[in-house]
Amino acid sequence: MSIMVPSTTPALTTPGRQALDSALQQLHHAAEHLGLDDGLRTMLATPRRSLTVSVPVRREDGRMDVVQGFRVQHNVSRGPAKGGLRFHPATDIHEVTALAMWMTWKCALVGIPYGGAKGGVAVDPAALTTRELERLTRRYVNEILPLIGPEKDIPAPDVGTDEQTMAWIMDTYSVNAGYSVPGVVTGKPMTLGGSLGRKGATSRGVQIAALAALGRSPEGVTVAVQGFGKVGALAAQYLADAGCRVVAVSDVTGAVHAASGLDVAAVRAWVEESGGVAGYPHADALGHDELFELDVDVLVPAALEGVITEENAPRIRARLIVEGANGPTTPAADEILAANGTTVVPDILANAGGVIVSYLEWVQNMQAYSWSSDEVEVKLRDLMEGAFREVKSLATERGLTLREAAHVIGVGRVADAHQMRGLYP
Ligand code: NAD
Repeated sequence: MSIMVPSTTPALTTPGRQALDSALQQLHHAAEHLGLDDGLRTMLATPRRSLTVSVPVRREDGRMDVVQGFRVQHNVSRGPAKGGLRFHPATDIHEVTALAMWMTWKCALVGIPYGGAKGGVAVDPAALTTRELERLTRRYVNEILPLIGPEKDIPAPDVGTDEQTMAWIMDTYSVNAGYSVPGVVTGKPMTLGGSLGRKGATSRGVQIAALAALGRSPEGVTVAVQGFGKVGALAAQYLADAGCRVVAVSDVTGAVHAASGLDVAAVRAWVEESGGVAGYPHADALGHDELFELDVDVLVPAALEGVITEENAPRIRARLIVEGANGPTTPAADEILAANGTTVVPDILANAGGVIVSYLEWVQNMQAYSWSSDEVEVKLRDLMEGAFREVKSLATERGLTLREAAHVIGVGRVADAHQMRGLYP
């Protein structure tokens, strides 16, 4: 029996299904390289627990809507499950499974003692009032309550969720427990046990990975960023702070471009005020697709999966792609980019700063102690730079791409954990 990489039939093709196909193909290549046996491959290709729930929500006008929610724990061989919670209308069980699988390899790659999980609710948060969102979040948490907990599975922010969402989760869980349990989620507000440095951690990690991969002074290096949310906006800011020239950014509202460089802080202020990058006055409007084709040194996809495909990969001129988003590049696009000499710092390495500082937040919560922002930053930098060096050196030694090397390390560590634990009973 060999690992099944399910074929995508037209009836089943959703962005989530495609993301899962990509994740399974990446696992397949790593498993081949590692020579894993079929049983272990199947174990690693299959989530340990998947829960689909119906979440009824009372709307402001008195109507009741019911939306679907998911929580998937892909692997818990190295520790409690860890992974974000996404609110997005297109999310489905396949997407959440793919994202959980990538979390497993990411935690193993950067050496933190977690397995991988992910959650999702198929809803557009922008279409709900704050009170509706709160009711939705609390009811979803109640539905998945048996799965989560500081020693079991610890959610965090992802697309469409933020520290307010985490505060509602922490409160709902704590009310059910009968006492405050800050360690049940990370990415919390500081006042509820959040960690200094968590808010910008994923973006800081993207900056660290980008500078390590550049291997030269960032002064004047040109950058385009797709997605100007929690990860993309601060990644653009930190890269600009390091001396790069951020020439284009985009979000769902549009894309903007200024060849002489954008004032990233001013774009962030504009987004705060107007709700999106579109219409930012000191730049030209750009088509969404055009951003990928700009002649820049670094491209940072920081929105959703499957945006760099075999269709647009041949037109990408960036020398370096640093994946802030999870799963932005399809395996077919990866082959084209590798053939064209484009270096891709893969998601499980480039955006690991978020889960690293989530782990540090959880450690602080479990000890009821807090570290200074300098302590957090030093630990984040050490783990990111250490992981980058390991990936780079394995890639060089074995002639692999950075993605292949990162998966060989991550998958290999999880496989080792299974082999050492043995199979119960
Ligand atoms: P977010 O909701 O804060 O931001 C998402 C951004 O993407 C928004 O600006 C949105 O407008 C934009 N966007 C969506 N579709 C787009 C499109 N077609 N074109 C251009 N822009 C588009 O989410 P986030 O937390 O910043 O997450 C972004 C990515 O980073 C996701 O892939 C997520 O899984 C990944 N990630 C997030 C974290 C974290 O700590 N938040 C950690 C690791 C990885």
